[in-house]
Amino acid sequence: MSTFDPSCLFCKIVQGDIPRYGVFEDEETIAFLDIHPLFPGHVLVAPKSHAVTLTDLPPSAVGPLFEKVQLLAKAVESAVEADGTFVAINNRIGQTVPHLHVHVVPRRRRDGLKGFFWPRHDYQDDEAREAVRDAIERELAKLL
Ligand code: 5GP
Ligand code: ZN
Repeated sequence: MSTFDPSCLFCKIVQGDIPRYGVFEDEETIAFLDIHPLFPGHVLVAPKSHAVTLTDLPPSAVGPLFEKVQLLAKAVESAVEADGTFVAINNRIGQTVPHLHVHVVPRRRRDGLKGFFWPRHDYQDDEAREAVRDAIERELAKLL
């Protein structure tokens, strides 16, 4: 079932109430140029139906969305002759538009985007590492 939130910016973009530089559209998905690109060719790929985060998306919609993300990653990389891409989703934290969208950002060697790779926090010891692995496995067992 498709949902629409009248107060949502990207729902308005889906509806055509706010103009977009669209690069792709089908029944379930839209892709358009980010208004403030990290680099030219930075595209957002979003489900047309309103969902805030990846975990809110119905599982049946995940495959179709990510097939389009893959397609856009190929097209963007070729279109701007990039060396690669960065594909990312902010889920709540760091998310400024609360309608799920996947960033497809063209990357080049030495493009200066080192800031994307945050400081790492190593596990204190193997016990701490195992506790986290076990917790994730327990949560997965509940979901599967
Ligand atoms: P987030 O911070 O939620 O991960 O990403 C939101 C993205 O939406 C930002 O990169 C921002 O530049 C982009 N954005 C915000 N408002 C608009 C808009 O009205 N049109 C388009 N095309 N992009 C927008
Ligand atoms: Zn929305």
